[in-house]
Amino acid sequence: MSDIIRQQAPVILAEIKKANNILLHCHPHSDPDSVGSALAMKFAVEQLGKKATVIRGDNEIPEAFEFPGVEAIIKKSYGEIDPKEFDLFIILDSSTPNMVSFKTPVIFPESMKTIVIDHHVNNAKYGSINCVDPSYPATAQILFDLFKEMGIKLNHDIALNLFMGIYTDTGGFKYAAVTSATFAAASELVSFAPDFAQTISAMENSNTKEKFAFISLALSSLKTYFSDKLAITYVSKKQFDDYKLDGEEYSPSEISSLLRTVKNFDISICLIESVDGKARMSSRSKDSIKFNVSKLAVALGGGGHKNAAGATIDLPLSEAIEKVVKTAEELYNF
Ligand code: 5GP
Ligand code: MN
Repeated sequence: MSDIIRQQAPVILAEIKKANNILLHCHPHSDPDSVGSALAMKFAVEQLGKKATVIRGDNEIPEAFEFPGVEAIIKKSYGEIDPKEFDLFIILDSSTPNMVSFKTPVIFPESMKTIVIDHHVNNAKYGSINCVDPSYPATAQILFDLFKEMGIKLNHDIALNLFMGIYTDTGGFKYAAVTSATFAAASELVSFAPDFAQTISAMENSNTKEKFAFISLALSSLKTYFSDKLAITYVSKKQFDDYKLDGEEYSPSEISSLLRTVKNFDISICLIESVDGKARMSSRSKDSIKFNVSKLAVALGGGGHKNAAGATIDLPLSEAIEKVVKTAEELYNF
């Protein structure tokens, strides 16, 4: 339990107790840490007798996320709701206001307090209250500690949502940010949710043949730079159209994670061109000291972690690729 969590827990509890109508969201192209944390927080505030609404955010929640409570998520993004109806917005796993929505400017009305709870190193601390601790591998693990301090009782549904967030953001307990506290949290969560393996299987064994068409398109564009230290792949909008694939359904992180497994590639990147002509970039590295990719993502207007970071670049695909290569050359000692 970190000092930050211990200090912020009573402050956050007091704000929840004061609130009448609480908003929660999932970040663009949400991942299990975002969705699981939002749903666990919904159940937690309900335990405190409060009403909470979870909005889906910019994109569909993948069908493969069979998390308890997922059916209650409202299919709207921040620009499609009236934030004035809420007096508290608990913003989870989102380092910048962009991660609330890319579709519309994110403005918080004065009548709505904001609490930011996050583990991203570059978090802009843009809330009225900020509970940010980058030493945690997942926002869900912050919530595990926070709930203990707040007196929230674990149950199956809270536990399974938190477990899925921790499991995914640690790459299945493999990343360097995993500590004995992570395993201790997972162990306690699994005692409440012994059916965790079913939910992991539903999530991980959900590939389609179209997904493999996307993977093969991305891999066929592989180009390496700086003696193979930097690997870049891309899929253009035209390629998505030619192969009748919906680009919004696929994540460049599938590809950057796959390329990271190549021994010589220090930085692996995939860019995909979205319908609005912007390039979604995902980057991965193995050595977070020599090749901290959050620096690259921040330089390109995004954010993330040392080993896994991303950005949305507002340039045509070929120019975005050039910019990524040039920025990486400036930042790293290849
Ligand atoms: P992924 O490559 O898995 O999509 O993202 C890796 C990490 O980078 C995640 O923690 C995600 O939140 C962060 N990230 C990805 N895209 C963006 C972005 O456009 N802006 C910011 N601030 N963070 C991003
Ligand atoms: Mn996270």
